[in-house]
Amino acid sequence: APPVIVCVGMAGSGKTTFMRRVNSYLHSKQKPPYVINLDPAVLNVPFDSNIDIRDSVNYEEVMKQYNLGPNGGILTSLNLFATKVDQIVNLLEKRAKPQEDKAPIENILVDTPGQIEVFVWSASGTILLESLASSFPTVIAYIIDTPRTTSTSTFMSNMLYACSILYKTKLPMVLVFNKTDVKDAAFAKEWMTDFEAFQDALQRDQEGDDMDGEGGSSGGGGGYMGSLLNSMSLMLEEFYAHLSVVGVSSKVGTGMDEFFEAVAEKKQEFIDDYLPELQRRR
Ligand code: GDP
Ligand code: MG
Repeated sequence: APPVIVCVGMAGSGKTTFMRRVNSYLHSKQKPPYVINLDPAVLNVPFDSNIDIRDSVNYEEVMKQYNLGPNGGILTSLNLFATKVDQIVNLLEKRAKPQEDKAPIENILVDTPGQIEVFVWSASGTILLESLASSFPTVIAYIIDTPRTTSTSTFMSNMLYACSILYKTKLPMVLVFNKTDVKDAAFAKEWMTDFEAFQDALQRDQEGDDMDGEGGSSGGGGGYMGSLLNSMSLMLEEFYAHLSVVGVSSKVGTGMDEFFEAVAEKKQEFIDDYLPELQRRR
């Protein structure tokens, strides 16, 4: 069965641009993917999508009709769309089988709303993910804005968020460090594999803060903040061990081969580890 690749990440991390890049990469390999857009609020989808939430729900109308703000509008649109999930899975299952006129699809790509929490923490997002995962090996691609995670504190909060998504979805995850044309992801890979390198960086960031007149009691080595950060990075070491990490530039197009190697690895992990667990829970 083809893998479902679900792109999640903070607003502005580059999910849509990444989808566009992956889409054109697969087209160039003569392996056009099946593409699903679940962002009801996006103005332009810069790629051909086979299923678009905007074809069945009108986000602007939903906001007006139910008197909602932007987040409520996205959530309600997702709820309305989630009622069709069985039809969508049926459609995907058909397209994944060999057909007379078309080659079976080899990848299914899913773009999600800019506001990550609306998808990951809503009932309808959960229903959509679980329905996909019950028919296809499903992998989360967690997209990260690399140039905006260069400080130890933003890095740490991004990793904690990714970790919480891993535990919420219980699906294998690839961390995609995007925008490497602006900032190389080597620093992140180092922090994720070398605990002492991260400690040193913490220390440095802390000294920087001290020069701004802050810090003091929250010094990297000592104090409450220091010991909290140390404990968290030990916890994260365990989390990192379960992840694949790739650096990409959705703008320039680097890192695509590595990304698909990681997806293949995680697809196998889904089949070996996640599927038995899913079946056991049912
Ligand atoms: P989304 O909210 O996660 O869907 O993010 P978008 O795909 O809309 O991208 C947000 C912004 O980041 C846009 O201005 C993109 O042009 C920019 N962007 C996305 N990927 C890259 C990249 O690889 N390199 C650079 N330099 N900019 C990028
Ligand atoms: Mg987007």
